[in-house]
Amino acid sequence: METVSEELVRYGIKIAQARLVAGAGGNISAREDRLIWMKPSGVAMDEMTPEDLCGIELDDGRQVRGPHRPTSEVNMHLEMYRARPDIKAIFHTHSPWASGVISSGAELKPMFAEFICDLGRVGTIPYVTPTTQDLADAMGACALDHDTIFMVNHGVAALGATMKQAYYKCLVVEDAAISMVAASVVGKPRFLTESEQADLMQLDAPKHRVKMMEQGG
Ligand code: 13P
Ligand code: ZN
Repeated sequence: METVSEELVRYGIKIAQARLVAGAGGNISAREDRLIWMKPSGVAMDEMTPEDLCGIELDDGRQVRGPHRPTSEVNMHLEMYRARPDIKAIFHTHSPWASGVISSGAELKPMFAEFICDLGRVGTIPYVTPTTQDLADAMGACALDHDTIFMVNHGVAALGATMKQAYYKCLVVEDAAISMVAASVVGKPRFLTESEQADLMQLDAPKHRVKMMEQGG
């Protein structure tokens, strides 16, 4: 059976192949009981082995596994897990289209059903210097009541009950940004109205989608 660290390496490759990060940008983590597996700092997501991953104790932030220094956003990941015991994976990307839209002054809003059904509660935080405790605190607070977080002048953080769910969120955010830019180039984006969004939330199909994502794999 695949271990948590093997699965995290597999998703790192997918994120890099989907071009949601460049070089060593972004960082990913997954929870195994009280241990958080994280990407090492300065390492590209498609160049890690399970042995490279850093194991960090959730309670006191001590590194207990792995030869490398953990991601510089180690505290951001820890604060979000502390805020959300239901979350098993956090994927932080520097998705180029999403980061561009998020940092443009325009709001990345739902044009399609997946935005409503797959992203959960969407929140935005203003720019905070990367790698700082201030950013960790802001993300921990935002994670209390949001499942997908837009980080102005930085990127995206997707929280998942499974790695699959966090990964799908990253993909949906990037496609939403591309579609919004496409609509803006040829015309004016038509966003879903509040009542259209509410109608979607009532359907059975989105609930089934979420259930499938929560099964992981
Ligand atoms: P690390 O290589 O230290 O994970 O930094 C990447 C990043 O996304 C910082 O916000
Ligand atoms: Zn980052």
